[in-house]
Amino acid sequence: MSPQVLEQSAAIATPEATEFNRDAFDAAVMTTYGRFPLAVERGEGCRLWDTDGKGYLDFVAGIATCTLGHAHPVMTEAVTTQINKLHHVSNLYYIPEQGELAKWITANSCADRAFFCNSGAEANEGAIKLARKYGHTVLNAEDPVILTAKASFHGRTLATITATGQPKYQKNFSPLVPGFEYIPYNDIGATEAKIQELNANGPRVAAILLEALQGEGGVRPGNQGYFQRLRELCDEHKILLMMDEVQVGVGRTGKIWGYENLGIEPDVFTSAKGLGGGVPIGALMCKGSCEVVRPGDHASTYGGNPFVCGGAASVCKTVEQPDFLANVRDRGEQLRAGLAEAIAPYGDNFIEVRGWGLINGVELSAHIEATSIEIVKAAMDKGLLLVPAGPKVVRFVPPLIVTAEEIDEALQVFSGAIAQVLG
Ligand SMILES: *Cc1c(COP(=O)(O)O)cnc(C)c1O
Repeated sequence: MSPQVLEQSAAIATPEATEFNRDAFDAAVMTTYGRFPLAVERGEGCRLWDTDGKGYLDFVAGIATCTLGHAHPVMTEAVTTQINKLHHVSNLYYIPEQGELAKWITANSCADRAFFCNSGAEANEGAIKLARKYGHTVLNAEDPVILTAKASFHGRTLATITATGQPKYQKNFSPLVPGFEYIPYNDIGATEAKIQELNANGPRVAAILLEALQGEGGVRPGNQGYFQRLRELCDEHKILLMMDEVQVGVGRTGKIWGYENLGIEPDVFTSAKGLGGGVPIGALMCKGSCEVVRPGDHASTYGGNPFVCGGAASVCKTVEQPDFLANVRDRGEQLRAGLAEAIAPYGDNFIEVRGWGLINGVELSAHIEATSIEIVKAAMDKGLLLVPAGPKVVRFVPPLIVTAEEIDEALQVFSGAIAQVLG
């Protein structure tokens, strides 16, 4: 860490460290996660402090979720004001904050309507239900099918692990949900062939659900040509084009929505992570032409409550400020250029640096032994938090408020980490 950063950390470090007992935690909490040995106590901006008072530069941001970093004054003010006024009432009644957020999303996207729930998986569940109903009622298909991509990620509920085109998430959880078929990402020939095959005896393909950039699958950006041709195919066959914007939506790519990077408009899209900046929210958006849901079709007790909508609105209002997205694009370019420089001395140990805006990945060669997790651990020891995207890709998803100095600092630590692992 640079002397200046050390000084900053010391200035706002917690005076006394909180007692944290890892064994007691592990004894009481279900073992669904392989956690890093770090207990986080406090955050501010792009920095976190653990229970021993050690500071970290956070390039994970709660997995692309803390859009405004930690303890951002605008967000703190919004959620504090809201919780003092009204936090939950249920969708039995009109919730003005929900209407405001929906208005912002529809004014700033291709969608006409929004539905709110609590997570990315839940938003995708809503999209899947909408696609099924569209298949039954518009296409008159008896057993509608949804196409998703190999190496995709759509969540951890039963339907969304089925939608996720990665066997490791499905293992031991069969029987899976019927009605899903898989296509290779960015492959128009294979997509066309699959539609032809499934629609041979009448329309069955109700929707194609894809990420604009595959996040968990290894930070793989969608191809413009592919998505533009796919848009035509979907129109031709009356298939809904549905985009999972859970990881890339709300400014992460330097544009508000990931699909804007592809020059297309989806019929349906979902959002979560970055939308709430850390308050739990999910959202399903659609164009008016495919809003087939009716009262009673779908619901959520917490969905769109005043507390989360107030928090999410403060994120959206900040993201729309002039220069906010320009900073995301500039910092992204700075990061990619610096990463390319950092890996250059290692020749074919690395495949490439790729990404959009502030979602970026560095891919290690398959033929070397080192894995992304080793690099993540080395960086963590040196005070930088990163997250793997599969065994060979290290992912960089800092808060969108990250500064040029923080990018430089992260690059310095990353260089040290790869020198340690590969040197
Ligand atoms: C994280 C993620 C999800 C799941 O979101 P949860 O809030 O964890 O349910 C779905 N799709 C994508 C693309 C994601 O990155």
